[in-house]
Amino acid sequence: MSIFLNNVTYIDWQNHEITTGNLRVDTGNNGMIEFVDSCPDEAIDCQGKLITKSFVCAHHHAYSALARGMPLPQKTPQNFVQILEYIWWNLDKKLDQEMIRASALVTALSCLKNGVTFVIDHHASPFAIENSLEIIAEAFDEVGISHLLCYEMSGRDGEDCQQKGLQETERYLQNRPGLVGLHASFTVSDDLMKSAVDLAEKYDSGIHIHVAEDLADQEACKKEHHCRVIQRLDKFGILNFPKTILGHCIHLDQNERSVLSGSEAWIAVNTESNLNNNVGLFSNRGGLEERVLLGTDGMHSDMLRSTQFNYLCHKDHDGLSVPDFYLRLRRAHKYLKTNNFSGDSDNNLIILNYNSPTPVTTNNWLGHIFYGLTSDSVESVIANGEWVVKDRQPVRTNEDEILAFAKEQAIRLWEKLI
Ligand SMILES: [Zn+2]
Repeated sequence: MSIFLNNVTYIDWQNHEITTGNLRVDTGNNGMIEFVDSCPDEAIDCQGKLITKSFVCAHHHAYSALARGMPLPQKTPQNFVQILEYIWWNLDKKLDQEMIRASALVTALSCLKNGVTFVIDHHASPFAIENSLEIIAEAFDEVGISHLLCYEMSGRDGEDCQQKGLQETERYLQNRPGLVGLHASFTVSDDLMKSAVDLAEKYDSGIHIHVAEDLADQEACKKEHHCRVIQRLDKFGILNFPKTILGHCIHLDQNERSVLSGSEAWIAVNTESNLNNNVGLFSNRGGLEERVLLGTDGMHSDMLRSTQFNYLCHKDHDGLSVPDFYLRLRRAHKYLKTNNFSGDSDNNLIILNYNSPTPVTTNNWLGHIFYGLTSDSVESVIANGEWVVKDRQPVRTNEDEILAFAKEQAIRLWEKLI
């Protein structure tokens, strides 16, 4: 099966070359696109619309989707660890299976409506671990978004939760591609880290972990393990997996940067979350640029917004040009491709209804990306060669039903938080 699009203006996501004509979009995980002379009658007319490749979110937390508008914490956090303790660890401990499903459905919906067709998620629900990844995977599949999931294992809630995290990770990796999730060095013992690495080796996976998001991670590592976080991860072999994703990497010294730049690991930068938590900003010093991916860290599901924020906050510090910032958005395609993850072929597309007051050309497309385009322009989305959003409505699921279900679950969750 194929989708046919008439009168297309297609912008190549790599060289920004603009091609007009009729496009055939093949269905399937590794489907291609091809310009054709003519289309069958059922072809969709795309006159006046722009078409380009959709986006990837390299670090998300679907579990936080019901947090919007939740009650304030009983105590006001004074630092990053207290933000975790009073807000996020209070929330994730209350999640049950229905809430997890609602969180995943609304996240998938929001990603797709923002033109994101592949999400790399980091999940935590310490008292509803069993089957949690499969619940999320099924919800993502139902709405039509490709994914790479992991469970955020940690020692913070005791031995039982830790064991369940390992079991859930292994059970999931037996059935589906995914990553091995760890929370952060400061909540992960040597034993757990070793078990996680063993699982990553056994299932040809990688580790997905937060790294030096706050100085507290480094201080705990020095105190308990007498080294810095990157050295600790390196000692366990975590940086040798080409599938490993390190979230944040803000508080690194020169030596850590040098080790990381020569490693196989990738770095997921989440600028808005860093500003929100007041933890500082990532720097690409020491040759880290080639490893940088962009995520949202659960703040939202809009990668255009993440990219624009990243550009505005980093342009004076990271010594980069506009095309380099665009590469940050697009490098996740390389991560997925080089690691042979399926679901991000050229048949993942966004159709933009973008009425610019100025011309769009190959040479100025990035000017539109950084200063004009917003996700409001995403009119339709094709994932793996199938319609998943058409005229701003999800195709496979009912948006009103999902939002009503999410509101019910949010109310249940918030009652437990108080
Ligand atoms: Zn995160």
